[in-house]
Amino acid sequence: MSYRPNITNVTKASSNDKDGLFEFIIKLADGTECRVFYNRFPEWKMTNISRLLKTPCPICRKDFICKCMDAFTPDFEGQMIGDKWIEKAIAE
Ligand SMILES: [Zn+2]
Repeated sequence: MSYRPNITNVTKASSNDKDGLFEFIIKLADGTECRVFYNRFPEWKMTNISRLLKTPCPICRKDFICKCMDAFTPDFEGQMIGDKWIEKAIAE
């Protein structure tokens, strides 16, 4: 069974509006939480993703740091823009 992240909530953790730098916390349907960094100039681009160590990784099952989520950056970026999660998170 192949893994696919499914975003259920996004909150803005911090931002530097002048430089267009944003930090978001993403919650997934399986309970996984990730911290992502974005640069909005010239267009929204994810620059880093890391899993918060609250729950084991849904892919490798490690409960410490791993890089599994990196492979899903395109899925995350697609949902963040396509489902308007960024738009909603920065409007709050
Ligand atoms: Zn992993």
